[in-house]
This record gives sequence, C-alpha cells and structure tokens, in this order.
Amino acid sequence: MNNKITGNIHSVETFGTVDGPGIRFVIFMQGCPMRCLYCHNPDTWSFGNNKQTTVDELLEKYESVKEFHKNGGITVTGGEPLCQIDFVTELFKQAKSKNIHTALDTSGILFDENNTGKFDELIKYIDLVLLDIKHIDEAEHKKLTGHSNKNVLDFAKYLSSNNIPLWIRHVVVPDITYKEEYLIKLGDFLKTLKNIKALDILPYHTMGIAKYKELGIEYPLKNIPAAEKEDAIKARDIILNAIYNKQN
Ligand code: SF4
Repeated sequence: MNNKITGNIHSVETFGTVDGPGIRFVIFMQGCPMRCLYCHNPDTWSFGNNKQTTVDELLEKYESVKEFHKNGGITVTGGEPLCQIDFVTELFKQAKSKNIHTALDTSGILFDENNTGKFDELIKYIDLVLLDIKHIDEAEHKKLTGHSNKNVLDFAKYLSSNNIPLWIRHVVVPDITYKEEYLIKLGDFLKTLKNIKALDILPYHTMGIAKYKELGIEYPLKNIPAAEKEDAIKARDIILNAIYNKQN
C-alpha cells in the first residue's frame, strides 16, 4: 500500500447523481492544462496548493457515507484528474480492493499512444471511463480548448481495444459544436469504438459565469446563448443516426 502519495484535491461531493451510475462520491482534482471556452470549473485550472490529501483520508470519508452509494461508487473528475495519474491509480487500486465501483471522468488530453505505461496500470482498476470529447474537428478543437484532439481520440481507441466501458460526453454549444457536419463526424468516429455504454449529450449552460467574475477572468463565450434541452436531444439523434448509418 502506498500511503505516502498525496493528491491535490479541489473538493468532494458526497451525493453526486450525474457522474456515473447510481449515487456517487465525486472527487474533483485540482489542475487542468486545457482552457475550454465553456468550462464551468475555471477554479480547478491552477495547479496551486490546495490541501494535500491521502488515499486513506478519501476512502475513510467515502466509508463514512457509503450507505448512500450502494449502487454507485467513486468518480474522479476535475480539472483534469490525469494530471495526477499516480494518485488516481493508487486511489482506484485501493477502492477496487474494497469492491468499490470506480469511474474516471477525463478529457483524455494527457494520453500518449507512444507512452502508455501509466495508463496500462491505471485501467487495471477502472470500471468506467466518462470521456468528454469536446470537438470532433481537429481545428475547431484547438480553437475551443487550446489543444489538438489527437490524444483524446487516441485515448478512446485505446480504451476500446482494452474493452474498458466508456460513456461518451459531448456538450452542444450553439455555433461551435452544434452543427450537423460535426455531429455526423462524431457519430462516424464513435461507431468505430466497441466499448460505448452510454452517450451523454449535454446542452451548454452559462452557470459558470459567476465563477469567472469571482476569479476576475473575462467570460469567453458571452455572446453565445445557452443551448436548449431540445438541441441536445436533436444533436444526439444526429449522432445516433450516423452511428447506425441512417439518413439524417
Ligand atoms: S477539461 Fe474540463 S476542467 Fe479543463 S478546461 Fe475543459 S471543461 Fe474545464
């Protein structure tokens, strides 16, 4: 057991209902190299010093509320949790030894197909990955996040070839991702994967704006309206039709 490793944790939510199956203990890790224009957690970006937390401390906290999580488990999110991959691996390893369901919510941006050693270790202890594909188009992904989507798509393929159950997440943003050509392209990519268990298409919302104000950062999408629930439903249909080769 590695009791020495510590994690830089932003916060913990003991009763999460949207980040994986059942009711979940959700751990928000600090630090993210991406700068998604619609990010609603800009307070997790910095790698600054939060309280360093051990795996044991987190699992003790989980144990104290585990009655709520019978059909759930632990989800690690962020920020980008894989900035602290050694900590997440140790946490999931300990969690699996206690039969706790483990889910990782990630952008996949840190994956490197030429250097998978740490990922090979991590996936031994993962029950589910929630992979957020921000934009299927390479150039648009760069505009939206500041980074290429190559690692993200490589990570999806890697998870598929290792049979790790995958929930795909995608945010529908008016004028940015909400275009038929992109949604079809996304569906065309997803149909090459064999491990998808769910497709979570979420309408872009503007609830993060207050955090930007607090942090003194200008909100980048102030001219883009929130998407409607119906937009997300339509987008999901287009993606599913592309997956199943139907006419849109
Ligand atoms: S990857 Fe997540 S935490 Fe990082 S900037 Fe994008 S939305 Fe925000």
